[in-house]
Amino acid sequence: MESAELFMSKHIFVTGGVVSSLGKGLTSASIALLLEQRGLTVKMQKLDPYINVDPGTMSPYQHGEVYVLDDGSETDLDLGHYERFTRSPLTRDSNYTTGQIYLSVIEKERRGEFLGKTVQVIPHITNEIKSVIQCLADDETDIIITELGGTVGDIESQPFLEAIRQFSQDVGKENCLYIHLTLVPYLKAAGELKTKPTQHSVGQLREIGIQPDILICRTEQELSRDDREKISLFCNVPLEAVIQELDMEFSIYEVPIALREHKLDDLITDRLGLSAPEANLDQWKAMLHDLRNPQHEVNIAVVGKYAEHKDAYKSIYESIDHAGISHNTQIRIIPIHSELVEREGPDRLLAGFDGILVPGGFGERGINGKVEAIRFARERNIPYFGICLGMQTACIEFARNVVGLTDAHSTEFDKNTQHAVICLLDEQKQVTNKGGTMRLGSQPCVLADSSVAQECYGTTHVDERHRHRYEFNHLYQSQFTAHGMIVSGSSPDGLLPEIIEIPDHAWFVAVQFHPEFKSKPTKPHPLFQGFVGAALKNRLAVGEAAGESRKRLFEEFKEPESFEA
Ligand code: GLN
Repeated sequence: MESAELFMSKHIFVTGGVVSSLGKGLTSASIALLLEQRGLTVKMQKLDPYINVDPGTMSPYQHGEVYVLDDGSETDLDLGHYERFTRSPLTRDSNYTTGQIYLSVIEKERRGEFLGKTVQVIPHITNEIKSVIQCLADDETDIIITELGGTVGDIESQPFLEAIRQFSQDVGKENCLYIHLTLVPYLKAAGELKTKPTQHSVGQLREIGIQPDILICRTEQELSRDDREKISLFCNVPLEAVIQELDMEFSIYEVPIALREHKLDDLITDRLGLSAPEANLDQWKAMLHDLRNPQHEVNIAVVGKYAEHKDAYKSIYESIDHAGISHNTQIRIIPIHSELVEREGPDRLLAGFDGILVPGGFGERGINGKVEAIRFARERNIPYFGICLGMQTACIEFARNVVGLTDAHSTEFDKNTQHAVICLLDEQKQVTNKGGTMRLGSQPCVLADSSVAQECYGTTHVDERHRHRYEFNHLYQSQFTAHGMIVSGSSPDGLLPEIIEIPDHAWFVAVQFHPEFKSKPTKPHPLFQGFVGAALKNRLAVGEAAGESRKRLFEEFKEPESFEA
């Protein structure tokens, strides 16, 4: 970035210190929500210091789910928080990694764009970082929030910190605000909160030349005025800008309200010289009220390969909860390891659930456990929702156990199957690179009349996000229909079945796309709503007495042991 073109947009940089997993993504999303509800236009971005060129190829074990945007970018799961909390339009420019930054600089170097100069971290890498921040600025956007992944002090973070330091020189100090999130741990032995790690972390930032404007202190105990004064003094941040963010026992959706109570949004608008009315949080508060006051309870099993990893199916769990809010229902989500179902059979593991969901996934491990779980749901009339691989396995199960094609499979798992009910798309056959090469992003889908899908959505055309290589082989469609499984949604040319359902079942719907990327707490996804509604109906039908015995069953339920990655 030579000299920044001056747009109206102001910039907020969110950094983190002391430890990782402080919830920077949630905090950034909460800030964005507060600002949006004041009528401001906000864009969000995450810069990730890891070297991988895209998060799409990273293991869910290490990195949680891959979050897919409308434009097909595979991004960090924090972008899911951004979309669930805000209206910020996310695109490919909303997530950059060190790998992407370096790749772009190296490609420029290969094209001779640096005219033989020595290519260095400063200025070439830092310029590239600044340009990806600046590219979000325009005259329609009031505020751009850029969250920096990692922790201050990490080697990988250095160029990013240097770039955001330089950034305020380019666009003017009055247009930038630095928010630093730290941990103030409570030491049981000493019986007190410790501010030293925060002091050190801010010290590191100041060494780089960044003086944070606002400190958000994550803590499990209330900060006293003394604690805040100490932090203020040692960190050179005014007392009113030392804000506590207590652990939210109940729900992450309470974070914006807690930050509002500490007037964080007033502080931000004042500092950035923006005038905006008070935040209107009525809708958000109404959602929280419903969340806090459920009238019912249902149990949903999520049968997947990464059952023990809470971030691997993050958006699915969130979407189930959103649907629960809209049905005034508290949902107990129990992840069940598909390999466990494979070993033990579904009878004990899945007894007592009001609904069963099989999420997306890759690789053969645990596939037969998923097939068994789906058979259990289908045969016992338990509401079933299949997502992506959960649709493909539903087709395999149906082909094997209902249509009678006993060796039916997906060519992902058995290249030589006689009945490839799931097979590779033609466009995928040539692909050898792993990153960003699947059928990705938003695709249109036409819904069949009188289908459950159409009834849920209340419309005939929808757009949903995809991330897969394999597809239901439409050559089997008429055989499936004859046996009672219909295609209720397909691509507009009719060639790609996108939704299947069994009309003669309590609720059996499976989709090739990922509806979980389009659900918000204030606007649950129609299919999740339909699924949870059916699970609730199921629960109410079996009555409270059965509910009680189920409760016991869950209390006895042991966490499954870990399986290999
Ligand atoms: N492995 C399957 C495919 O590539 C399903 C992918 C998914 O569930 N996201 O088609």
